[in-house]
Amino acid sequence: MNIGLVAHDAKKNLMQNFCIAYKGILQKNELYATGTTGRLIEEVTNLNIHKFLAGHLGGTQQLGAQIEHNNIDLVIFLRDALTVKHNEPDVNNIVKICDANNIPLATNVATAELLIKALDRGDMDWREMYR
Ligand code: PGA
Repeated sequence: MNIGLVAHDAKKNLMQNFCIAYKGILQKNELYATGTTGRLIEEVTNLNIHKFLAGHLGGTQQLGAQIEHNNIDLVIFLRDALTVKHNEPDVNNIVKICDANNIPLATNVATAELLIKALDRGDMDWREMYR
């Protein structure tokens, strides 16, 4: 499966820890991330990540385009819901694209854990039919 990963600055450390914790599952899949998020994950794991541009340079739009082309099966976008920073990408566009394309999306780590465990159990094998 192809997994999209994005984390706002306040959640990047959480994303690193999430990827360390679930490395065994993540390494069985293809990983796509916005530039900084991807680099930070690579720094603490030996996961291979396809890195888009940094979020504020268009990386989130690149991820959105891949979702629209049916190339992403699951998205984890750990968003900072409490502070709005103008240099950080707006999660709403990704939410909209995921909803329009029926793609499972986690916006917090609790849901991310549920989705990643479901993926590992094979609950998302239905996605194979859509590709
Ligand atoms: P980044 O993009 O991973 O390149 O930082 C996401 C963000 O800007 O929050």
